[in-house]
Amino acid sequence: MTTVGFVGLGNMGGPMAANLAKAGFTVKVFDLVPALIAGVEGASGAGSARDAATGVDVFVSMLPAGRHVESLYIGADGVADVLGKETLVIDCSTIDPGTARKVAGALADRGITMLDAPVSGGTAGAQNGTLTFIVGGSQAGLDRGRPLFEAMGANIYHAGDSGSGQIAKVCNNMLLAICMAGTAEALALGVRNGLDPAKLSEIMQKSSGGNWCLNVYNPWPGVQDGVASSRGYSGGFLTDLMTKDLGLALETAVSSASSIPMGSLARNLFQTHALANGAGRLDFSSIQWLYAPDLKG
Ligand code: NAD
Repeated sequence: MTTVGFVGLGNMGGPMAANLAKAGFTVKVFDLVPALIAGVEGASGAGSARDAATGVDVFVSMLPAGRHVESLYIGADGVADVLGKETLVIDCSTIDPGTARKVAGALADRGITMLDAPVSGGTAGAQNGTLTFIVGGSQAGLDRGRPLFEAMGANIYHAGDSGSGQIAKVCNNMLLAICMAGTAEALALGVRNGLDPAKLSEIMQKSSGGNWCLNVYNPWPGVQDGVASSRGYSGGFLTDLMTKDLGLALETAVSSASSIPMGSLARNLFQTHALANGAGRLDFSSIQWLYAPDLKG
């Protein structure tokens, strides 16, 4: 029986840990918010992150940003000292590739294998066990982690060495942000010129402007059922997290002397939206408000 320690039980981590328990793994969970610990069906609660990391075969983390990951593993009272050499460590958080490599290197010095395995697929993917895992690290580590990835997701990609999963994730989310801002801009232009947003969406879906945001995550309220825009932009993928990911794209571009004019503009748009509309804790598709302020009400 594989035992798993899981730390970080937010919108993503909670359902991911529950899916591991549902698949038959023995799961021990911890979060700084006690109510979240009790909310993971089928798992037992740990008293601290170090407790969750002690005596487990696999240790998984799902935290907001690089500083949280660094502190969890190699900060004062970090879990690095209590993880066994045989424990496979999988960090599913979206963080900067530099921190991913730094923490993996520090664990490797202790003989511990760590994978960076950020995910795509949102909260619905986490709940339904259909996430895409984008893995950086050794093939042997990925092979050991595969049963867990299969319990939490539907697609598993090996991007390359340590940190590569984070680079691929950063590229994907930068493109997602650009597509969402462009989709919101096009819809607002059409509506301002008298078109119905549902009709315009249908036309563009079947034309060359069709894209994931327009087709399955439409930002205009009322056009699609079951998406964030049709429930007041609650839940989903927070604007603050998207802004964070665009910051990671910028850092990655600076450190590799790459030019990302569209990504930089997208970062500016999402940050402006978060500040001007108080939308940091709303789903990122609420960027629609920036182009159609009347929708804010
Ligand atoms: P969240 O804010 O809902 O959850 C993060 C959790 O980590 C919180 O419950 C917090 O209490 C906990 N935490 C922070 N520091 C901790 C520590 N030291 N010890 C224990 N618990 C700690 O965030 P989320 O939406 O679950 O996202 C997690 C990660 O997944 C982020 O890196 C995000 O970018 C990424 N991601 C999110 C989505 C999405 O749709 N929400 C999609 C893909 C990737």
